[in-house]
Amino acid sequence: MAASHPSESSLPSEASAEAPTRASEAGTSEKEAKEQKAFDRWRKTLSLITGLGLSPEEFQAEIEKADRKTCELYKEQLIKTSPGVRFMMNNLVKAGCPLTKNMLDCGPCDSTKSGGFSPDHGILLCQNGFFSKKHQEHTMIHEMIHMYDHCVFNVEWDNLRHHACSEVRAAALSGDCNWSREVRRGFYTFTKQHQECVKRRATLSVQANPNCTSRAAAEKAVNAVFDSCYNDTRPFDEFY
Ligand SMILES: [Zn+2]
Repeated sequence: MAASHPSESSLPSEASAEAPTRASEAGTSEKEAKEQKAFDRWRKTLSLITGLGLSPEEFQAEIEKADRKTCELYKEQLIKTSPGVRFMMNNLVKAGCPLTKNMLDCGPCDSTKSGGFSPDHGILLCQNGFFSKKHQEHTMIHEMIHMYDHCVFNVEWDNLRHHACSEVRAAALSGDCNWSREVRRGFYTFTKQHQECVKRRATLSVQANPNCTSRAAAEKAVNAVFDSCYNDTRPFDEFY
């Protein structure tokens, strides 16, 4: 499982991005070594801001490190505090497919994605793909719904209609189209606008399926399953 996201292997080397503490090597006091380290860190931060003194690779590495740190922090916080994330985690346990922490990984992705689910590797959170903590929260719930579907409904991901059904449910129930906000306000009515949003997002996701040949094919698959899958709100039925 660790091999699934290559970025994971870069974690232990995080400290190497800092300049070596030459002071400690020379046998000077620990205090001086600490100061040197703090100075090096400060200099690095400064050069990051100004864009000077770092190679493009170093610059990219610093950005990735910062993205990962934020993603991991939000992940921990959301697992503790987000009602939607906790609800899905509990239901994955009930369904017999508990989501362990090593199956919920932060990593870099290409800029068009915010997350992904793989039956073999679990959930990838795109550390560079979030524009807010709320966005990361919705993405976590979205991917957990895919995981739930895979566990409970034996989804064949190669089958466009199967995939479309899970995308419709994930878009509708995750808050991607602000459903959760409506629930908190006490409105359970799905508006036309909500349906259009779910359709649009599900179509985009199905289009990314390697077996999908065109946007028209994705739309066809989504339309074929929309009514039944949109109305299947499991495991969220228990909210009502
Ligand atoms: Zn999806």
